[in-house]
Amino acid sequence: MAETSSLAPVGCAGMTLKQGGSLFRPPQGLQPSEEVLWVQQSETRNRGKSGVVSMMLIGSLFLASGLYYNILPILGIGILIIIGGIFVGYQSKTQGGVRYYLTNFRFVKSNHGRIVTELPRRMFRGKSFQQFLSVFKAPLQRGTVEMYAVQVLNPDTGNMAMNLGLLPGEIVKRLESINEEVYCKYCGRKNDSNANVCSNCGANL
Ligand SMILES: [Zn+2]
Repeated sequence: MAETSSLAPVGCAGMTLKQGGSLFRPPQGLQPSEEVLWVQQSETRNRGKSGVVSMMLIGSLFLASGLYYNILPILGIGILIIIGGIFVGYQSKTQGGVRYYLTNFRFVKSNHGRIVTELPRRMFRGKSFQQFLSVFKAPLQRGTVEMYAVQVLNPDTGNMAMNLGLLPGEIVKRLESINEEVYCKYCGRKNDSNANVCSNCGANL
């Protein structure tokens, strides 16, 4: 389950906190006044872990009965399933570290705590949400919650920059309005979208 039901600030640069049972660690390289507003964790890791465990168990069962009854095909199936489990384990290890963050300054894709892609917020200003978000209604629901497949596009090129996966409708609505938000790059304060100077420190926006 993604821990994404609200968009209240969950932490800022340099701090570590417990969130939904998993330790929240912001990616390296955030600025001191940068606030993390939203985190999307890749679900590959957890899914991968339980998948690997069950594949190893089933594989060993086949392997054991193949050995016990001396039936080669069953032994072979067991070995194949175990190899598959190792492959899935490897995949979730290399891809399980991907996380997406929305901060008051930028959209960030990180892998194992390091920023690999970022889109500064000023790129979204004055753009319509169709220019920076690709949203498709998913054919499945989580309970009564409608889910959407969401990608963040580079508004200048239209290319996909980040694949956020499935998100509930309320989060999508919130992401669609990030073009209307202006944050001061010096103190981090949220300002009116038509303001010219920061209401907190007076800096030019
Ligand atoms: Zn300011």
